[in-house]
Amino acid sequence: MFCVKCGREGPTYESLCVKCFLGSTRFAKIRDHVDLFQCAHCDDFQIEGKWEEFGSVEEAARETALGAVELRKDAEIEDAEIEVVPKDSQNYLVRMRLTIGFQDIEAVEELETIVRLKRGICPRCSKIKGSYYESILQVRTRGRPFPAEEMERILGRIEKLVGGGSGSRDPFISKAEEVPGGLDVYLSSISLGKSISKELAEDFGGEVKESSSLAGQKDGKEMYRVTYLVRLPAYRVGDIVAQKERLYLVSGIGSQGTRLTDLATHDSMNISNVDLRSARVVGSREDILEAVVLQESEREIQVLDPKSYKTVEVRKPRSFKRSADTVRIFKHEGEIILLPTWYKG
Ligand SMILES: [Zn+2]
Ligand SMILES: [Zn+2]
Repeated sequence: MFCVKCGREGPTYESLCVKCFLGSTRFAKIRDHVDLFQCAHCDDFQIEGKWEEFGSVEEAARETALGAVELRKDAEIEDAEIEVVPKDSQNYLVRMRLTIGFQDIEAVEELETIVRLKRGICPRCSKIKGSYYESILQVRTRGRPFPAEEMERILGRIEKLVGGGSGSRDPFISKAEEVPGGLDVYLSSISLGKSISKELAEDFGGEVKESSSLAGQKDGKEMYRVTYLVRLPAYRVGDIVAQKERLYLVSGIGSQGTRLTDLATHDSMNISNVDLRSARVVGSREDILEAVVLQESEREIQVLDPKSYKTVEVRKPRSFKRSADTVRIFKHEGEIILLPTWYKG
């Protein structure tokens, strides 16, 4: 093969020898100015159409400049040395030294551009500003008040679940408000409502009901909003519940079920949350009293009723081992019931 320009023999690139080809070819170019958008609300930057977080404007300017390089067909950047010089708060001079590969040739080219920082609003912030939502998570209790601290704890859990999702920047809480009976949280998507309601139900032993309503049309398609109602159980950890005429201490609530301790035997067991929906709360932590022990035999323990100061004989579960001069008791329908010694509530 001959170079059509200088006539030299050897490998050719578009009919030219390496020397002539490199002498007449530029592999990369860039515009004089490149715009970089930063969201005025969340400070994320838009790089090649995608909104993401960067540690600094310089870092975002680097990525923007690199993304704005136009390459000759089949050429690729193998290495880039980039220097960013702030000119003022809006303009950043970016100098690049690029090593470019083209077929079996390697060429080094220098480019520079000014990255102009512009303020904008990302779609996520614009949705939040517009109170956009696709689902509502309603958290309610079953047959009991909903204390403020419990509500706060649950809202904290929801915020954590929204923030720590798949790494996508789309999920957000549009609004969270206390309403009569509970908590309403407006969420950015239906899938978010679905996954969070499921998690909450598992964490707190609740149940989920789903309902949807037509919210209008968007691009000719019907838009639905879905409400997820999470009903928290009547009982909480530390409560005493009656279920099928037996009394139990609730010692843990989780996705696998609720941990109960039978107060007649002090045996612990896991019951599915569904099976406990009919459980009735008969006492809470505040109803548990401390009683002085007067005497103890193999089957019974004699205590001083802390309310009436009467001596009462109490049946002792077989596994009961006393560790102090007092025991914890719960009075139910005139009867004194011993709590397990490990119970510290
Ligand atoms: Zn040549
Ligand atoms: Zn934003």
